[in-house]
Amino acid sequence: MSTTVISESSNNSLHPITAQLVGAASALGGSITIICPGGIGATDAAQISGVSKVISVEGGCFNTYDCIAWSESLSPLVKDDLILSSSSAMGRELISSIAATKGVPVVQDVTNLAEGLLVTRSIYSGKAIEEVRISSPCAISLRTNSFEAAGGGGSAEITTVNVSRDITVAVKQALTKAGERLDVSEADIIISGGRGMGEPSNFSHLYEVADALGAAVGASRAAVDTWDDIPHSMQVGQTGKTVTPNLYIAVGISGAIQHLAGMRSSKYILAINKDPEAPIFSVADYGIVATWEEALPVLKDQLSEILSS
Ligand SMILES: Cc1cc2nc3c(=O)[nH]c(=O)nc-3n(C[C@H](O)[C@H](O)[C@H](O)COP(=O)(O)OP(=O)(O)OC[C@H]3O[C@@H](n4cnc5c(N)ncnc54)[C@H](O)[C@@H]3O)c2cc1C
Repeated sequence: MSTTVISESSNNSLHPITAQLVGAASALGGSITIICPGGIGATDAAQISGVSKVISVEGGCFNTYDCIAWSESLSPLVKDDLILSSSSAMGRELISSIAATKGVPVVQDVTNLAEGLLVTRSIYSGKAIEEVRISSPCAISLRTNSFEAAGGGGSAEITTVNVSRDITVAVKQALTKAGERLDVSEADIIISGGRGMGEPSNFSHLYEVADALGAAVGASRAAVDTWDDIPHSMQVGQTGKTVTPNLYIAVGISGAIQHLAGMRSSKYILAINKDPEAPIFSVADYGIVATWEEALPVLKDQLSEILSS
């Protein structure tokens, strides 16, 4: 099985998900080609272990993201049976468009990929897990942090290709309320608050813990809908962002099915809730039955102690 990986970038460098995509492809065997849109991170991509070839695709249309221009430029370069991308909003859109151009099926948001193209993904808003065997050629987007990243030490050949298409859509300005804080979709640790935080100013306690841990702060939909100060960009869940951090800390969040849909595949889940019957405890690896007023100061002190030792 030969695989083409569409690399992901952020802040003008290669995103760590790219090494995870290579890790997933390596488990299937066969050659691996990475295509780097805009040439971003091509040198780093070539150093990922197991990569046979890197195609650095340079051209005017890669200055700003335009799905059609990108997929028309990249599709002719995709020669392999399996195409992999991340399941970020951009990754999902781009791989769908490439799959449509090549006339192959696409499976999104896969959390496991085994030999014989046996894929696992959540369906019905996270209420069920589906395992299905698919046949190649096909395109698959993979959920962040679900696959072991391939190591370094590679020395793949880099080929530069110049190609471009007319842009039909361009982002002129990004207006964001989230500021410079880490976005939940990028974070390895997330601490989220729900309606149980009582009022938006109490999120400052979450930010204190987040700063100690280098974590991002998220929120339930009840929190973002109730309080203007909590932006929708922080929402985790079915109609918010799907996250798979190594650690997800849910504070004052009941654990409605729509919230679980966005975070239940996190590696470890810690729940803090005063109600021992709260459904969040059914998915939590660790649970603290207490008010956040009691639990957060202890958690913060313990963390500071551990981190300073
Ligand atoms: C179509 C649809 C899509 C939706 N999409 C999303 C989505 O993407 N994300 C999402 O989150 N929700 C979503 N929802 C809403 C979801 O159903 C819930 O209403 C919401 O998740 C509840 O948020 P919450 O847990 O913060 O609030 P609540 O359900 O009100 O829970 C508050 C929790 O805080 C606890 N608590 C109270 N005081 C304290 C304290 N001092 N210390 C500790 N614990 C305390 C309570 O015991 C309770 O468990 C969606 C709903 C629909 C219908």
